[in-house]
Amino acid sequence: MSTVDWQGKHVTVAGLGVSGIPAARALHERGALVTVVNDGDDERSRAQAAELEALGVTVRLGDGATLPPSTELVVTAPGWQPDKPLFLAAAEAGIPVWGDVELAWRLRGDDGREPAPWLAVTGTNGKTTTVRMLASILEAAGLRTAAVGNIGVSLLDAVLGETEYDVLAVELSSYQLHWAPSLRAHSAAVLNLAPDHLDWHGSMEAYAADKGRVYEGNTVACVYNAADPATEDLVREADVEEGCRAIGFTLGTPGPSQLGVVDGLLVDRAFVADRQKQAQELAEVADVNPPAPHNVANALAAAALARAFGVEPAAVRDGLRAFRPDAHRIEHVADIGEVAYVDDSKATNTHATEASLAAYDSIVWIAGGLAKGATFDELVTGAAKRLRGVVLMGADRALIHEALTRHAPDVPVVDLDRTDTGAMSEAVARAAELARPGDTVLLAPACASMDMFTNYNKRGEAFADAVRARADETA
Ligand code: ADP
Repeated sequence: MSTVDWQGKHVTVAGLGVSGIPAARALHERGALVTVVNDGDDERSRAQAAELEALGVTVRLGDGATLPPSTELVVTAPGWQPDKPLFLAAAEAGIPVWGDVELAWRLRGDDGREPAPWLAVTGTNGKTTTVRMLASILEAAGLRTAAVGNIGVSLLDAVLGETEYDVLAVELSSYQLHWAPSLRAHSAAVLNLAPDHLDWHGSMEAYAADKGRVYEGNTVACVYNAADPATEDLVREADVEEGCRAIGFTLGTPGPSQLGVVDGLLVDRAFVADRQKQAQELAEVADVNPPAPHNVANALAAAALARAFGVEPAAVRDGLRAFRPDAHRIEHVADIGEVAYVDDSKATNTHATEASLAAYDSIVWIAGGLAKGATFDELVTGAAKRLRGVVLMGADRALIHEALTRHAPDVPVVDLDRTDTGAMSEAVARAAELARPGDTVLLAPACASMDMFTNYNKRGEAFADAVRARADETA
């Protein structure tokens, strides 16, 4: 519940944009004196500024570095780098800094309504998928819910809007957690931890510590990945409410207080009357869409959070069956001549690509783009045996090529030196030449897309278009 008296409080909102504008509005409506500061001063921000100024909000464009002198609180867009001068000035003056999540957490229930508890999900990969699976399960249980956070509905809208919720399935990024000191979820999961965004956090330790904040103050369950000990360490370090339990998920046979897999079934040995002796069947592995191992892990994490909230086993099964994955996440596009074509354009880092390469036995792999400082030796070593061939494209393809030369010298590699709009069609054509019946042609670039495409969606669409055109030709 909000304990803040906003009337006349000087709040600086750092950053216009998806979180800044609704934050400025909400604070202004509550009587705060809001100044928005923004680095950019382009046409779009001027139009946004004009709308806020019409309400009575002060907007300062072209200078996001200087802290307005009367500031009592800073509310920041989550992506703003913590070493910005604005934050250093705030720290020096002892002024608190909240992110969008912290603001939503503090404002929930300030209109007198009973606030919905949060089931929170973070991790390096799989957040969106898991949160949407969780929302699907909660819906199947008849609960009023939404998948919120980085996806779909913004947290602030979910907390302040008209719609009433029984529980929220909340996706949280490491940036958002960094700026959310007082968040206390009902239960939370950290899916996995691999180096990512280290330039922003400064170090792996700082990144892990921010992810670990999601467990702080949990009341019922801290859900960790038994295959990723770093996630369990975070549970151990967290300060939780008395009675809150550590619940593991595993692709193997679950121990007590774990969810896992036995004979093609997802089973629960955590939320049962006697966890030494009892195992509750939840669903079949085949109910998970797609049933790739990492996705089964996501399903187990979602199931654990739902079970922690008291959801019945049948709703876990129904929710998983009803779940449809978002586009470009291991999306089956077509089968052409006994070769499957799969779009995992969202695999923008090596950890994600490792998971999708592990899901198929014989692969023609399409990869490349912007490496963001990653190295590829481990990824290539792990996948070498399953690679029929590789088609490389994009700015940093040489890095992957070198790793292949070192660790998989016998795997044929096509190196595409073109970035025009036809490049993806050629990549698909060359991959088709390499593929044999039973193979999977997998777009899982392990890189960001912005060297050749507007974003990973466009890259995935280019792949799917090329595959469909080919399917039509061969039909
Ligand atoms: P996020 O929201 O964390 O980016 P998504 O659910 O959008 O995660 O999935 C992003 C990509 O990460 C997917 O395309 C897939 O390749 C990969 N992925 C999904 N779940 C996992 C997991 N549990 N472990 C490793 N990689 C995963």
